[in-house]
Amino acid sequence: HYRCRSAFKLLEIDNKLRVLRPGLAVLDCGAAPGAWSQVAVERVNALGTDPAVPTGFVLGVDLLWISPLQGAVFLSQMDIADPSTLRAIQSLLPLGKADVILSDMAPNATGIKELDHQKLVSLCLSLLDISQHILKPKGTMLCKFWDGSEARLLQNRLKEQFQDVRTIKPEASRKDSAESYYLARLYRGK
Ligand code: SAM
Repeated sequence: HYRCRSAFKLLEIDNKLRVLRPGLAVLDCGAAPGAWSQVAVERVNALGTDPAVPTGFVLGVDLLWISPLQGAVFLSQMDIADPSTLRAIQSLLPLGKADVILSDMAPNATGIKELDHQKLVSLCLSLLDISQHILKPKGTMLCKFWDGSEARLLQNRLKEQFQDVRTIKPEASRKDSAESYYLARLYRGK
């Protein structure tokens, strides 16, 4: 019932590393068509389906149109790197804050590996800037990157801001050889 196979990457990561829990507020960046948001809605109990555990919240953002999903709020056709998007995100998140920032964002690939790599690293770095305004202390950020010369720079920037940073290569990503994720936990806050 997932909108896209990418759901299985997040399920695999979450089964192993427990990123999502009932009650958490999640920002899903690059959310279209919405499969990660579907997983997040289930795992944080955003619909309140299980009354015995806390109810979470899911906000998805994408440059593209995202069709509506029960339990999620979407900001469609918005660029995460745009300052007005940050204001919209802050106004929609409960108390303006997220426990978890997910990013499966990917720029349109040019096919030039090094250029695509750099574009994705810059996107992740702008997300790291945004996290200063919206991520709760001890929060988590999971972001996709394509391997290349600046992966280490991104990893180092994450290590400055988070106590625990690890690299994940999900089985479900194996066919996409350049793709990995950084899971950064325990945000130090400002
Ligand atoms: N995780 C999604 C799912 O499971 O349905 C799939 C995400 S897809 C691999 C990557 C998405 O990142 C694309 O929909 C693209 O439009 C989005 N994206 C790329 N750059 C973006 C930006 N600057 N702001 C917001 N979304 C962006």
